[in-house]
Amino acid sequence: MSLNPNNALNFSGGPGALPEVVLNQVQQAIINVPEAGLSILGISHRSDWFENVVRETENNIRTLLGLPSDYHILFLQGGATQQFSMVPMTMLRGKKHPAEYFDTGYWSRKVVTEAMREGPVRVIWSGEQHGYRRLPTDEELDFSPDAPYIHYVSNETVEGLQFNRILGRDDVPRVCDMSSDFLSKPCEADKFSLIYAHAQKNIGPAGVTIVLVRDSVVQNAPDNLPSFLDYRRQVESHSNFNTPPVFAIYVVLLVTRWLLNEVGGLENMAQINQQKAKLLYGLIDGSNDFYRPWGEAAFRSDMNVAFNLPTKDLEALFLNEATAAGFSGLGGHRAIGGVRASIYNALTLGAVEKLTGFMEDFRFKHHAKY
Ligand SMILES: *Cc1c(COP(=O)(O)O)cnc(C)c1O
Repeated sequence: MSLNPNNALNFSGGPGALPEVVLNQVQQAIINVPEAGLSILGISHRSDWFENVVRETENNIRTLLGLPSDYHILFLQGGATQQFSMVPMTMLRGKKHPAEYFDTGYWSRKVVTEAMREGPVRVIWSGEQHGYRRLPTDEELDFSPDAPYIHYVSNETVEGLQFNRILGRDDVPRVCDMSSDFLSKPCEADKFSLIYAHAQKNIGPAGVTIVLVRDSVVQNAPDNLPSFLDYRRQVESHSNFNTPPVFAIYVVLLVTRWLLNEVGGLENMAQINQQKAKLLYGLIDGSNDFYRPWGEAAFRSDMNVAFNLPTKDLEALFLNEATAAGFSGLGGHRAIGGVRASIYNALTLGAVEKLTGFMEDFRFKHHAKY
């Protein structure tokens, strides 16, 4: 059984593409999960079957990342956006020294807004004066040893900017929003006190957010938080404090199996992702300024390739023709416009080759005319 051949190639910024083999398994599970004799949409979150799903998904993530045993893995709702608040509620309330945040793009600005409601925040670096087309170098950063933690976004999904190094200092806890590059490459997770990533860019459907949190962070949480927003309660109940998103977690399980068994781990995944990004940036850089990359070369993302065309009219025409040719989701984020090709884990090299072929043809047709 193969995916509907009429499906467009999904370059959406999120929710993103999922592996074809996973979609086929999900299709089956919606009718019947053989081990349970039920549809996945109607299985109890208190069943043994679901307990095993959570356990295996945790184990798979632990194996993929080499995560030590003093980290908890949680499956929460509320999206990455809820973590914008849960992190400072847990780690910043009542603190004297400011937590250090970055202003590197659309998503970090939202994170900062929420953190400021909970306690003192210092924005350690802003990309505003650079039009959000680059990230900081180490020379531009000066971290305080007194900060309760630092927070950054590893991949700015809208602008297509990605850190290819770990920021901060080892004596200050690091917190990272990895929503758009989680499990796309190895990440030295044990250098972070807390990592969060919703599923819907790289590893599943919307509805579940994965949090990796060091036990010491959980132990030191204030004891007056609403239960649902208290990592301690979530840890105690094994992500089963109230009805969890059973379906979304099951899809994440299938994606982690795919990463382990078919892709062969995160090193392999990173290699494939780099190959796709290289192909696309190569075409853009060799286009004689027809395709204009958004980000400076050293900071460009392997996940989201954002670019412009010489005129707004050409951009509109490009997007129309791309849609007609079977490419979906290429419109840039409403915050910056332009074009964005999101090439998450499940988007194949073959799909990127088709896109670069289309882009070549489009350029030859229109380059002389602008
Ligand atoms: C998409 C995105 C978000 C928003 O996540 P929600 O699950 O919609 O709350 C947050 N951070 C990053 C980096 C994203 O790419």
